[in-house]
Amino acid sequence: MNRTALITGASRGIGRAAAELLAERGYRLMLNYFRSEGSVQELKQKLTAAGADAEIFQADVGDPRQAEAMAEACCKRFGRVDVLINNAGIADVGLLTEVTDERWDQLWRVNVGGVFYTCRAVLPGMIREKRGKIINLSSIWGIAGASCEAAYSATKAAVIGLTKALAKEVGPSGIQVNCIAPGAVETDMNAALDEAALRSLREETPLGRLGTPREIAAAIAFLASEESDFITGQVLSPNGGLVI
Ligand code: NAP
Repeated sequence: MNRTALITGASRGIGRAAAELLAERGYRLMLNYFRSEGSVQELKQKLTAAGADAEIFQADVGDPRQAEAMAEACCKRFGRVDVLINNAGIADVGLLTEVTDERWDQLWRVNVGGVFYTCRAVLPGMIREKRGKIINLSSIWGIAGASCEAAYSATKAAVIGLTKALAKEVGPSGIQVNCIAPGAVETDMNAALDEAALRSLREETPLGRLGTPREIAAAIAFLASEESDFITGQVLSPNGGLVI
């Protein structure tokens, strides 16, 4: 039977590319979005027209009740969650002294809370099945730290810590938990960067360019597949050599 993947933040960028690639590989998909309804509707139509089985679900992953409702909806529609891709995230660029309490809380609520709430909602089913794969989106900045992105970097480092600890906790239940830590990728998230900042990112990257969402999706698809069955608690970093 085809496997089911729940992808948070599937409406745009990396999450959307992951949805397209996993649909091509025969997964049934629950596509979460928050605000971009038009975009996710269009994606669902495109995938369905190509023969995929896809459903959409609106939820703020930073709200525990909404994360639970999303996991429940996925189980109701598809029977279970085989692969959870915690991709939804928000960025923040600016001096640490200018990060407000509200923005700090929001970054932690979405980037770390979203991973925690969704894992907590999905895990009982995976533990019952004695199998499952969780893939969390961190960032190279969670490993190396980005200047003027201290709050964002802190949340992405936390995602790595959560991934490693959870991998140890649920490994005996047959569940793998891994992290993807992309370098700079061509998505809306980097749209706020000016041309000089983008040029310097390209120059600092040994491969001389930003990554594409499809390239990150390929790493996600690998961790979702049976090819990765002996891998858990790891951080895979498709980053063009930006951090080695
Ligand atoms: P993006 O293009 O800005 O898309 C963000 C996605 O997250 C959207 O689908 C958005 O949904 C969703 N989202 C935001 N807040 C949400 C919430 N509260 N609840 C549910 N969904 C929410 O970002 P991206 O570049 O694809 O990044 C995806 C992930 O990769 C993020 O975790 C990011 O930190 C990480 N990452 C990105 C880069 C990069 O260079 N782009 C590098 C390293 C790591 P709506 O549009 O529907 O609101």
